Amino acid sequence: MQQSLYPILKLKPGKEQSVQRYHPWVFSGALASDTSGLTEGALVKVLDSRGKFLAIGHFQIGSIALRLLTFQEEEVNREFWKQKLRLALDLRQQLGFLNREDHNTFRWVHGEGDGMPGLIVDVYDRTLVMQSHSVGFWHIREMIAELLVELFPREVAAVFDKSAHTVPYKAGLNAKDEFLIGSESEVQALEYGDQYQIDLVEGQKTGFFLDQRENRALLARYATGRDVLNTFCYTGGFSVAALRGGAQKVVSVDSSERAVELTRRNVEMNFGAGEVPHEAHKADVFSFIKNIYHEYDLIVLDPPSFGKHRKVLAQALKGYRSLNQRAFEQIRPGGILFTFSCSQPVTKDDFRRAVFTAAAIARRKVRILHQLTQPADHPINIYHPEGEYLKGLVLAVE
Ligand code: SAH
Repeated sequence: MQQSLYPILKLKPGKEQSVQRYHPWVFSGALASDTSGLTEGALVKVLDSRGKFLAIGHFQIGSIALRLLTFQEEEVNREFWKQKLRLALDLRQQLGFLNREDHNTFRWVHGEGDGMPGLIVDVYDRTLVMQSHSVGFWHIREMIAELLVELFPREVAAVFDKSAHTVPYKAGLNAKDEFLIGSESEVQALEYGDQYQIDLVEGQKTGFFLDQRENRALLARYATGRDVLNTFCYTGGFSVAALRGGAQKVVSVDSSERAVELTRRNVEMNFGAGEVPHEAHKADVFSFIKNIYHEYDLIVLDPPSFGKHRKVLAQALKGYRSLNQRAFEQIRPGGILFTFSCSQPVTKDDFRRAVFTAAAIARRKVRILHQLTQPADHPINIYHPEGEYLKGLVLAVE
């Protein structure tokens, strides 16, 4: 590779250590070079303070200044990306996602977990949804879309880019959510035999929370004969799983009218419009849960992320504590609580402490039955512990 291929950025002395440990981010404070002449999203070559090669990454203005893509001196071109995307797809193939009759949805690219910090790609049948979280990936989105089509073993119906709200607003890209290929906006996902209507355009994240797949399957096993409350239900994934598992009654709650509608529709799609023991309510969970004394013996708490930055950590922990406290106060003796956190700055230990404090305040005896996390198509790069964002506990409450 020629020296001049990418602009060069040097790190301050001592700041190379995290890069040598393969951490995929470099914070702006670690840079010794002036970055004022650099275009946002550009590929740059990263050197230590003595001029030794360390990595190649995408440059961005902000606290995370570099997202590292390779620790080898190589060319980051179309072939490079093709190889990375193929490797990521091979893993999903090994996991058995590509040829199951009862399943058509999985995450193909999970950012840092697949060595592509800043990129997410989810598959819904023959529709692919990509999301850039960095300027660098947003600039090459068309090439990535083409490569996805080339590599996917079936004919791709559409590639939707859903990056309007994920690329940094300050970069002034005017990113739109748009179809790069095709135009289908409503697709059906099939997850272990259950069907879900996915609203790509209006939906949250890429349309569906694929990361709760295995946890929904576990819930189905606990739901038999129980009275289930599914809070923050969104598309109703846990509600469908509970009904599939033979729950006696399922009540779903979300503050968004659209989520309530989606949940009703998904329940109907799987169980018909007849006598299904399911109700969905538009309500604020924090108030709803105050007045349900002993009505439920299985409660799911899956709130949205309380924030991405460490600044909001204290507030997030307070939120988890008060929410869980209410659930512990209200759940019927002998009940099961599925409680989750998907906030990245909240560690497993932080979350446990919040939940255990809540149990103690509510004066309930509690045992841990399962400790849950994200599934294998959301792999965690061991050099990027922040990637372990989904934390869950299944608790038996006496
Ligand atoms: N459990 C879902 C994902 C939850 S996403 C799944 O498995 O797919 C978070 C949801 O919480 C969103 O649908 C959002 O509308 C809802 N929400 C956020 N704040 C809320 C509140 N205070 N009360 C009720 N719902 C809320």
